[in-house]
Amino acid sequence: MINKQDKIIDPLSLIRPKIRELKAYSIDHTPSPVILDANESPFTPPRRILERMLVVMAGTPMNRYPDMEATGLRSAIAHKYGAAPEEVLLGNGSDELIFYMILAMMEPGERVLVPTPTFVMYETIAKSLNMEPVTVSLTSDWKLDLEGALRLIKEKGPRLIFLATPNNPTGQKYPIRAIEALADAAPGAVVVDEAYIDFAADGPYGLLYRERPNVIIMRTLSKMGLAALRLGYILADRAVIENVNKVRLPYNINSMTQAAAAEALRNWEEFLPLFGKVREERDKLYAALNEISGIHAWPSEANFILMRVEDGAAEQVFNGLLEHGVRVRWFAGHPVVGDCFRVTVGDTHENSLFLAALKEAL
Ligand code: PMP
Repeated sequence: MINKQDKIIDPLSLIRPKIRELKAYSIDHTPSPVILDANESPFTPPRRILERMLVVMAGTPMNRYPDMEATGLRSAIAHKYGAAPEEVLLGNGSDELIFYMILAMMEPGERVLVPTPTFVMYETIAKSLNMEPVTVSLTSDWKLDLEGALRLIKEKGPRLIFLATPNNPTGQKYPIRAIEALADAAPGAVVVDEAYIDFAADGPYGLLYRERPNVIIMRTLSKMGLAALRLGYILADRAVIENVNKVRLPYNINSMTQAAAAEALRNWEEFLPLFGKVREERDKLYAALNEISGIHAWPSEANFILMRVEDGAAEQVFNGLLEHGVRVRWFAGHPVVGDCFRVTVGDTHENSLFLAALKEAL
């Protein structure tokens, strides 16, 4: 590129060095008959609800901006939890809320604590906003190293702690006592990311911020068969919500999502059997995986299973699965889970296609 002074400008020089080093979040979108790599639900919503959602979406005035405060949807969410609408903030997916919380609650250069391995966006967004991620490794059986985390809290004073529970990709749920201990020790906020909580045996932790105002609960509709809507939300103390709301971009939730999501949430009970089906399929898949020699699978409370293949075999097995039309998530190059796949629980048919392909690929 030549500018007016005939100087050659390297377009890369226009980008902040920290951003140049980042990797954009990406997943493979090559069409594949069996897609088990993004922790989506294999089920769309029950037909009756889907039809209602389509009706309300069709009634949306296309020429008008959305309700900026998303009043109806926030009320529907608040009602589901016995919370007030002022305790609810919405994001275009929970990713957007991670961004907003870091932006609103941290000064550049401050630290974010994350137990790893975990959902990669906590670190990626923190870095993109000039924050410093600090990590504490999970134990070899994916338990939280509470002592290690408490030590890092003392040494590094993280302003935000992100706890995905059940954790992605390990599938384990952290004990409530550990969350409370971290919240009591933390100089800032603890975000309890419940993206997968509907698949856990004993359900959500409750409105923890009522006792500990530095706890923020984060949820998403993405795992309940509504990933296309892009809706995440946080439940927190109203002073937290009021202030994080100040960095939210206007109209971040479009009218169709507002209308359809409110309709879905008002009919929440009808989704419960689908969570039950996923849990059932998960437990069958877990048992079947551990019957296969050369595979080690860990128990999971989420809608996916983390499995390790024998040393050095990951690439061959991953490609073998792809050749059989099955896409799973491979953490290629990761220092801890580089020889592991994360397999989303599909429906009965998809899971049996996956198991058959796996046996062929090994
Ligand atoms: N949190 C965790 C732990 C996740 O695994 C994911 C998605 N993979 C998200 C948040 C993001 O969800 P959303 O679709 O709401 O942005």
